[in-house]
Amino acid sequence: MTCTPLPTRTDVAIVGAGPTGLALAVTLAAAGIDFVIVDRLAEGANTSRAAVVHARTLEVLDELGTAADLIGRGLAVTRFAVRDGSRHLLTVTFDKLPTPYPYTLMVPQCETESVLLERLRALGHDVHRPYLVAGVVQDQDGATLTMSTGQTLRAGYVVGADGMHSAVRESSGIGFTGSAYAESFVLADVTMDWSPGPGEVSLTFGPAGLTVVAPLPGGHYRIVATVDEAPATPDSAFVQRLLDERTPAQAGVTGLVWSSRFRVQHRVADHYRAGRLILAGDAAHVHSPAGGQGMNTGIQDGYALGRALATGQLDGYEAQRRPVAQRVVAFADRMTRIATTRNRAVRRARNVALPLLGRLPTLRTRLATELAELNYR
Ligand SMILES: Cc1cc2nc3c(=O)[nH]c(=O)nc-3n(C[C@H](O)[C@H](O)[C@H](O)COP(=O)(O)OP(=O)(O)OC[C@H]3O[C@@H](n4cnc5c(N)ncnc54)[C@H](O)[C@@H]3O)c2cc1C
Repeated sequence: MTCTPLPTRTDVAIVGAGPTGLALAVTLAAAGIDFVIVDRLAEGANTSRAAVVHARTLEVLDELGTAADLIGRGLAVTRFAVRDGSRHLLTVTFDKLPTPYPYTLMVPQCETESVLLERLRALGHDVHRPYLVAGVVQDQDGATLTMSTGQTLRAGYVVGADGMHSAVRESSGIGFTGSAYAESFVLADVTMDWSPGPGEVSLTFGPAGLTVVAPLPGGHYRIVATVDEAPATPDSAFVQRLLDERTPAQAGVTGLVWSSRFRVQHRVADHYRAGRLILAGDAAHVHSPAGGQGMNTGIQDGYALGRALATGQLDGYEAQRRPVAQRVVAFADRMTRIATTRNRAVRRARNVALPLLGRLPTLRTRLATELAELNYR
């Protein structure tokens, strides 16, 4: 396999061309900062993975010149409904939010990566592939990356946008504090008859686990559910049983497009920077996919870091972005605990309180703002 030629020096080396690294690269390219972005894969991943793009991320993508293109590939959804089984508890709407994008955009992650990559190329840059970064050593003036091919790249700064098992984080010595969720997560993209229809994202509480059903372009639905034990690749019969138990009489699965089971950790890096090494995206934080915030937080990290490097305000990056990750992890955790409580009294109190609280416009707006990540502007 031929590798794209690699320069020997750069101001900023970005390790990883997922959504975080690409958002950072586009931000630096637009600001005229010298950088090199490498990825170990010969080409970008083409799987669905994160399917939700929140309003704040669309504002950031607008700054990067990619929002309109992505919106054209996705499905805008303005309602978020919460149920306990088939009992409706609360609906949050996004259409009154003070943003040019008063909705959640449902679109597969590969499309988000694709529009960022096209923008990067339009700005005259590209990802260097396939280069696996095998080692990073820093000194006072910069850092040296060594590829598995033996080639080296000298950089003023190195950004680890290399995902959860980040080699840059390992080299930096920065801790990754947190733990793993006990249960596994099932993800499935299906075709189905779904009685709430494609106009809402729905979250269903239940003692067996949390279930999210969200529409995708092309008439598909994305299902995310916490499950104590699940097969590695759940089939449509498994998904149908799960929905029958948790969302009674609402779903008739007609086909399975893709499915996966994985375990999730919730961790935040103890610091986002150690000298010349900086972390962003999944390298800096991982959490439950239930709120659909992992990729969103990563894209916003990439943009914030790009602006910090372009304006010489790197010291503010960790102070700005680490509290956001801590808040996202805490929010996802709280939501999971409230949703899956097995304590009958707590469940009853929750089911009485939520519809009452849902009548308060200020609370509905606060929830919509939190979900849309607009409080992280
Ligand atoms: C099955 C699945 C489902 C998911 N569903 C959701 C969801 O519904 N909602 C949500 O918000 N999030 C979801 N996520 C998480 C979401 O995909 C991540 O939050 C997002 O991809 C993070 O982007 P990133 O760019 O920080 O890291 P990644 O997307 O992990 O990108 C890291 C990149 O770095 C490269 N790399 C790694 N190590 C090296 C190295 N040593 N040298 C060179 N390159 C390297 C990798 O090849 C990769 O391209 C899901 C993830 C998975 C796996």
